[in-house]
Amino acid sequence: MLYAEVAVEAGRAMDHETYTYSVPEGMEVVPGHRVWVPFGRRASAGYVVGLQAEDPGIEVKAIERADAEPLLLPHQVELARTVAEHYWAPLIECLRAMVPPRIRGGRSSGAGPSSRQTRHSKLLAFARPRGPAVVGPSLTADQARALETIRAARCVLLRGVTGSGKTEVYMAAAADALRQGLRVLVLVPEISLTPQLVERFSVRLGVPLAVLHSGLTDLERAQQWWRARRGEVDLVIGSRSAVFAPIPRLGLVCVDEEGSSAFKQDRTPRYEAGWVARRLAAATGARLVLGSATPTVATYSQARSGALALAELPSRVRGQPAEVELVDMREELRQGNRMPLSRRLVEAVDGALRAEEQTILFLNRRGGATFVLCRECGRSVQCLGCSVSMVEHAELEGLSCHYCGYWRPLPTSCPYCGSLHIRNLGLGTQRLEGMVRKLWPEARVLRLDRDAARGPDGYYDILEAFASRRADILVGTQLVARGLDLDAVTTVGVVDADLPLYFPDYRSAEAAFALVTQVAGRAGRSGRRARAIVQTSNPDHYSLRHAQTGDYEAFYLDELPSRQAFEFPPYADLAVLTYGHVDADRAATTAREAAEVLAAALLRERVEGVKLQGPSPAFIHRLRGEYRWQLTVRGHRLERLRRLVPRGRGWSYDVDPVS
Ligand code: ADP
Ligand code: ZN
Ligand code: ZN
Repeated sequence: MLYAEVAVEAGRAMDHETYTYSVPEGMEVVPGHRVWVPFGRRASAGYVVGLQAEDPGIEVKAIERADAEPLLLPHQVELARTVAEHYWAPLIECLRAMVPPRIRGGRSSGAGPSSRQTRHSKLLAFARPRGPAVVGPSLTADQARALETIRAARCVLLRGVTGSGKTEVYMAAAADALRQGLRVLVLVPEISLTPQLVERFSVRLGVPLAVLHSGLTDLERAQQWWRARRGEVDLVIGSRSAVFAPIPRLGLVCVDEEGSSAFKQDRTPRYEAGWVARRLAAATGARLVLGSATPTVATYSQARSGALALAELPSRVRGQPAEVELVDMREELRQGNRMPLSRRLVEAVDGALRAEEQTILFLNRRGGATFVLCRECGRSVQCLGCSVSMVEHAELEGLSCHYCGYWRPLPTSCPYCGSLHIRNLGLGTQRLEGMVRKLWPEARVLRLDRDAARGPDGYYDILEAFASRRADILVGTQLVARGLDLDAVTTVGVVDADLPLYFPDYRSAEAAFALVTQVAGRAGRSGRRARAIVQTSNPDHYSLRHAQTGDYEAFYLDELPSRQAFEFPPYADLAVLTYGHVDADRAATTAREAAEVLAAALLRERVEGVKLQGPSPAFIHRLRGEYRWQLTVRGHRLERLRRLVPRGRGWSYDVDPVS
C-alpha cells in the first residue's frame, strides 16, 4: 500500500499542513499531482507533496481522484516547502501561488485552443516566433567578460549602469542555455515588462516564449502557464509571480533590476521573487544572474563575500551619462522661493523646451504616510533607537517609530535647529501637473501615475505617446523611473529627493540612491548633453552625493555602518507581525498580549539571537477601517519562529519586509 502526504485546499492552518491518504490500487500519483480527497464532510482539492510506503499507523481515507498528469513539477513542491518555511506561510498557500486561479478553479482551464479569445494583450503579440533568431551585436569586452563569469559561476550579480548592455548579456546567456537544450526564465519588474522587451527577446532568440504578467486576463494567464508546463516554450518572461511558473529543464534564471520593490508580493505568501529565484536556481541546478544598476546592500554584500560572483558593466554602450546636479532647496527658501520647483530646474526645462528636447519631472509618492521635514536644516524627525524617520499618526496625535514603537508629540519647531519652517512631505502629481501647465502654457504635458495609467494598456499608451514625441514634458511617479529608452529626453527633474531619503524605512538611503541613479538613467540615451536635476534639502547626504558621481561602491561603504549599528540587513534579518482590528483598544491590547506570549515562547524554546520589539503602530496605522499594530523581530534564521508566532484572524506576517 502506498500513502500520500497531501496539502489540502480546505485545510489552510499552519499548525496542520498536510494530511495522509492512501493511494488506491491502479492510481498513479507523484509529488505535484493535484488530487481530490475527502476532508471533513466534503471533498477538497489538494496537492501531493510526498509519498511513503510505510503504514502511518492511523486510519486513513483514500484519495478519490487524481489528474491524469501532475500539475506541478517535483522541484516546485520542494520550492513551495522552502517558501512556506521562510515566509511563515501555510504550505497550501505557496502551492496555490504556483497555479493560476483559472486552473485552480478547475473550470475551463485554458488548456484548449484559444479560439474564443476576444482581447489580446499587446504583450502577447510576440509570444510566438516570427522567424529564426536574429544575430545580435558583437559583445563589448565588458559584456564578453560578464558572459564568461556567468559560464564559470552558478550565481552571478551583474552590476551595470542603465544602458550598459545587461539585457544583451541575459540574451547571450539565454542562447547558451537554449543550445544545451535547457529553458530560461527572465523576471523583470512589472512596469518594465513592455511589448518592446518581449519583442526584443523573441526576435533575438527566435524561440517560442510565454509571457506572465498581471495585466493578462485569467484565460490568457492560464494559456501561457500551460504552454510553459507542457514545455512548448523555451523561455518564460514575466513579473514576480512568474518565479512560480512550471518550467521543465530550467537552465537559467535572470532577474533584472534585482531588489526592485516590485518583486515583493504584498499578499500571503509575501515572498520576494529575488529570494525565491535563488532557491529555484538551487532546486533545479539552473544558473542565476541577478542584474541591477543599484543592487540592494544585502545582495551586494553577498557578492563581496563571494557567495555571488560579481560581473560589472561600468559604462553605457552608447550615449553619455546624464550630469547630475543637486539643488539645495534650503537655499531656495532663503532666496524667497517657496515654490516646489527651483529656479535651476525651471531654467533647465526652459532650455529643453527651446531646444525641442523632452523633459521628465519625477515625483516620488508612496502611500498616504506623512512625516515631518525641516525646510531650513533639511532634517527629519527621527527615532533615536532606529535612526529612521518617525511617522505622523493623526489618531495618536504624534509621531511614532514603526519599528520599535517609540512615540513623541508632534513638534512645532525643528528639534535640531529650532526653525518653525517644518512641513509634511508629499505633493501630488496632479498639483504638480497643474503647476507645470501654468509655468509653460505652450508646452504639451502628459501625466503618468496610477490614476492616469488605468486600463490594460494605459501605461504603455502614455509612454508611447511620450516616446513618439507627442508631448514635451512628462510628469509622473515611480512609474516613469523605468521603462522605455527615450532618446529625446535630455532633462529629468527629481522634484523631491527628500521623500525617499526620509522614508521611514531602513532601506531609505538605498532607495534614494537607486531613485536618482534610475531617473538619471532616463536621460542622455542619444548622445546629446543631458542633465538630471535633483532637488533636496540634504545635498550633503552620502546617498545623494554618491548618486551624483554614480559611485555605488562608495555608497555601499557609507551605508554599512548604520546597518550594523541599528541591526538591519545584511547584519540581521527582519520580520514584521501585524495585527489589525476594527476596535482601536482591542487592537492595541491584543498586540501587547501577543508580544508577551511570543517573548515567553522565545525563552521557553531557547531561541537565541532574536530580538523582539513593539508593539508599535503599523506604518499605515489605519487601513480599511482597522487599527493595526505590529511587532518586529530581528535576528538570524527567523524560520525558527514560524511555529511560535501568534495565529488567527487579524494576524499577518511579513518576513524580509521591503519597507
Ligand atoms: P541595459 O539592460 O543595461 O539597460 P541594454 O542591453 O538594453 O542595457 O543595452 C542598451 C542599448 O545598447 C540597447 O539599445 C542595446 O541594443 C545596445 N547594445 C547593448 N549591447 C550592445 C553591443 N554589444 N553593441 C551594440 N549595441 C549594444
Ligand atoms: Zn531644522
Ligand atoms: Zn525606533
